[in-house]
Amino acid sequence: MQTQVIAHKVSEDMRNASWIREMFEKGRRLKAQFGPGAVCDLSLGNPNAAHPDAFFDAVMEVARDRRPEYHRYMPNAGFEFARTAVADFLRLEYRMPFGKDDVILTTGAAGGMNVIMRALCNPGDEVVLLAPYFSEYRFYVEQAGGRAVVVQTDAGFQPDVPAIEAAITEKTRAVVLNSPNNPSGAVYTEARLNALADMLARHDGAHHPIYLVLDDPYRRILYDLEWCPTPAHAYARTLIVSSYSKDLSVSGERLGYVAVPRSVPGREDVLGAMTMLNRTLGYVNAPAFMQRVITRCANALCDVDFYRRNRDRLCNALLEFGYDLQVPGGALYVFPRSPLEDDTAFVDILLKHKILAVPGAGFARPGYFRISFCVDPDTIERSLPGFEAAMREARGS
Ligand code: PLP
Repeated sequence: MQTQVIAHKVSEDMRNASWIREMFEKGRRLKAQFGPGAVCDLSLGNPNAAHPDAFFDAVMEVARDRRPEYHRYMPNAGFEFARTAVADFLRLEYRMPFGKDDVILTTGAAGGMNVIMRALCNPGDEVVLLAPYFSEYRFYVEQAGGRAVVVQTDAGFQPDVPAIEAAITEKTRAVVLNSPNNPSGAVYTEARLNALADMLARHDGAHHPIYLVLDDPYRRILYDLEWCPTPAHAYARTLIVSSYSKDLSVSGERLGYVAVPRSVPGREDVLGAMTMLNRTLGYVNAPAFMQRVITRCANALCDVDFYRRNRDRLCNALLEFGYDLQVPGGALYVFPRSPLEDDTAFVDILLKHKILAVPGAGFARPGYFRISFCVDPDTIERSLPGFEAAMREARGS
């Protein structure tokens, strides 16, 4: 018998995440064979819109300041001046009161989600995820000792409130929402969010608190609306997590935050727990340099029109080729129905045409596939003949 050199759970997770590795490996082989320029990699969600000038101006200014205290350990929630800047931004963005003490700076939204899950979950507690969902959620929940309960969204990728209600048990601790959504691009409607808030309020109580966790990193990557609807006003026990990864196109810089609205019962405990977890999970504090940078540009935004142009070019062409899709209202992805029932088989056809996409199975919604449009417009242009040929092939014509 082979010696197990790593933990069983991690080993199992690695096997379960194998489709990601598989896509990555297939892409790597294809790039080695034909050259990276010949492959259209639409599998990664790596934001690439131009950074706002305010970001680089802030970087230069911060880099010139030689005061050593800015490079040392600090309070685990982050510099007060940086939390104040984020709170000022949040007040305008969510149209609700926020101050520095309501904000904890984290290592990206991913770090924030881990802190939240650890703060909330007792062993075996359930966290409802709405499919299709960002596949990392499952790891965050399980690493915190919780159990992911997957509920499908409806045919328009909107939350199916009766189905969510049916999934609620004594052990439900949280429902995670992500709108605009990765991978579907759906923006949840105000009516649906209000219905969800009403339903949760009927189940929430002091002995059975249910948190609504808003994972909002795409909130400002919005194409057709001026303002993204939020249930934060309608449901008291709401936590907000987000980051600058998409707003500023700086996903490598790892600066995010968790915000706890004033309406959250027992909020001092929640904030205290998350501040401690920032430390004990080993993040300690969010990167100091970036905290100082975003203090100077907390409301800046990348060139969203760049993504809008990519979305329009890609979606119009795919619709013309006969793909069945909903034009995304936000985020960086389109999630068409797979022309073959087996989405993995269709993604393999795309691979033959040197296009990398991700099967819907990877987001707990088989029968679809995800295309990222945060790429160079030229990559989209080059991919179009391949999408057309793949559709013809799938239809057997
Ligand atoms: N949540 C969703 C839905 C995402 O798509 C991502 C990253 O792609 C994250 C969270 C993590 O973002 P961050 O870079 O802020 O950790």
